[in-house]
Amino acid sequence: MTYATTATEIYGDILRVCVSCGDPKIKFWRQKNYQYTHSEKHKEFHIYRCECCGTGFLNRPPAMEWLQAIYQYSGQALTQSITLDAVLAREIEFPNCKLDAERMSQQAGRINSSGNGKALDIGSGFGFYTQALRKAGYSTVSINPGKYENEVFGELNGDQPLNVMFENYQNSDLFGIVMMSQVLEHLLEPDQTISKVSGLLASGGVLACAVPNYASFLVKLLGTKDNACLWIPEHVNYFTEQGLRALVERNGFRVVKVEQITRIPFNALSRRLRLKGRPAAITDSLVKYLQMPFAGLMHYFGLGIYINLYAVKK
Ligand SMILES: [Zn+2]
Repeated sequence: MTYATTATEIYGDILRVCVSCGDPKIKFWRQKNYQYTHSEKHKEFHIYRCECCGTGFLNRPPAMEWLQAIYQYSGQALTQSITLDAVLAREIEFPNCKLDAERMSQQAGRINSSGNGKALDIGSGFGFYTQALRKAGYSTVSINPGKYENEVFGELNGDQPLNVMFENYQNSDLFGIVMMSQVLEHLLEPDQTISKVSGLLASGGVLACAVPNYASFLVKLLGTKDNACLWIPEHVNYFTEQGLRALVERNGFRVVKVEQITRIPFNALSRRLRLKGRPAAITDSLVKYLQMPFAGLMHYFGLGIYINLYAVKK
């Protein structure tokens, strides 16, 4: 894989305050190196942590050019194009994106009191969120820079998203819903992003966003070996619930609902243990049925894998 050329491997500016709450009490947490698939070369990244809200972030982060070079093909580490059938087959084996898209779109629709029937899907990925928003009666604008995802989006929804980074998106229309699923952790300067989102929402409109949880049990157990949240350098920010709340509240939002989501592929454990046949089948069903009480327990302690937040524009 050759998505990043040396010319684009540039670090951004040193950050002096927390990307979520703006507090200057930030401290080095850990180092995580990034190794290219077909190269021996390591790139060094330092993760800082805010002592006030607990948010983590790369410092220095990769520069915009570097991220753009990665995202021109894919925002989810695809190394080649993928067909809609292959994506749907994955969803049948392990329902994930489609479920989240429908749940979050319906939830956002219930909260939206702006009377505005337009939705903006930022980082539209394979297109499940746009599909769900349309099903919920919204007209949509979708934006996504990744070529491979946009091909699948086209097959699923019959049109193409705008191929831009949100930073470069310009529009004077207002929306009733802004959907940002697994996006905010990828964006440099999330405060500017949320400020821009705030300006794009009608009063009473809803921001629905999903991010990996930096306080998850996976990060606690695996440390920097975790790749759900600490996926470097694609993810530049690592949010806690407290940090995410601070970020939206200082940009004109009122948080109305926060929930955690934990979903583990049924076959994750049997695969890791290299089980086959009956032992694999037993392990898979154990994971399937123990998952609910396990997730409940994790969420009780704030350790779930993902955070979903809904906030209303004041
Ligand atoms: Zn902070």
